[in-house]
Amino acid sequence: MSTEPMCQACGMQYAEARENCPVCEDERQYVPLSGQQWTNLSVLRSSGTYTPRIEEQGPGLVGVGSNPGFAIGQRALLVRARSGNFLWDCAAYLDDALVAQVSDLGGITGIAISHPHYYTTMVEWARAFDVPVYVHEADQQWIGRPDPAVKLWSGTTLDVADDLRLINLGVHFAGGTVLHWPDGEEGRGALLSGDIVQVIPDRTHVGFMYSYPNLIPERPSVVRRAAELLAGYRFEAIYGAWWDAIVRTDGFEVVQRSAKRYLAHVAEEG
Ligand SMILES: [Zn+2]
Repeated sequence: MSTEPMCQACGMQYAEARENCPVCEDERQYVPLSGQQWTNLSVLRSSGTYTPRIEEQGPGLVGVGSNPGFAIGQRALLVRARSGNFLWDCAAYLDDALVAQVSDLGGITGIAISHPHYYTTMVEWARAFDVPVYVHEADQQWIGRPDPAVKLWSGTTLDVADDLRLINLGVHFAGGTVLHWPDGEEGRGALLSGDIVQVIPDRTHVGFMYSYPNLIPERPSVVRRAAELLAGYRFEAIYGAWWDAIVRTDGFEVVQRSAKRYLAHVAEEG
C-alpha cells in the first residue's frame, strides 16, 4: 500500500498526514513557490512515471534509484563489500521491481543514511529487506516516520561491518555522515559522501555547504574538523549523491586541498 504522505519537494515520508514539511521549512531546503504539495508511494507507483535505474558506478559499487529521480533525485549506492551488500543512502522512489532487482544482486544487510534530506522512504527500504537503517542521533528530530528499524547511533564513528565505517563529519547537518570503504576502488579506498562532502563539476575539488539551495556556507570550524577527521583515512575515489558525481582519483588530496581552499577563502582578512 504505502499511502503514508510524502513531501513532493524533498521526498520525506511521514507517518501521518500533516500540513507542513519541517525539512523543507528548514533553511537547508525550501518550500517551492507553488506551495507545499504531498503525494505517496502508491500514487507514484501507479503513475507509471518512474522505472528502476540500476547502474554500476565504480568497482563494487552499484547505483540504485529511479528514472526519472523523484524529489531531490539522489541515487543510493549498493556497496558490494566482503561483509555483504550494504546500502548507502536511499532513493525516494521504491517499487517491487526495484526491490526485485536489488534482491537479484544479493539483497542488502543494512542501510545507512548521510543526512535527513535522504531519509525519504528509508523505512520502506528497511522493511522491504528486513534490515536496520543507521541514522546519527544528532539529526533524530528530522525523522518523519519513526520505526523500530531505525537505529540511532552516536559519537564520531560506527563500524556497521568490519570493512565499513560511518564517520560523522557534522558538515551540512550535525549528524552529517560519510561512509568509508577501505576495500573500495580495488583496495585504494572509497569515500561515499552524500552531499556532506559535495562532488562538484571540477573533480579536482569538493564543496562544503551548510545550505545548498540557499547558498549558506558551512562554518569554518566544522570544515576544519571534517578535514582533520578525514586525514585519518585513505581513499582514492569519492562518490557523491548524484549519478556519476564521482571523483575517481586522488580523493584524499582532493578533500584536503578543498578544505584548505575553502578556509583560506572564508578567513577574515588581516
Ligand atoms: Zn519536504
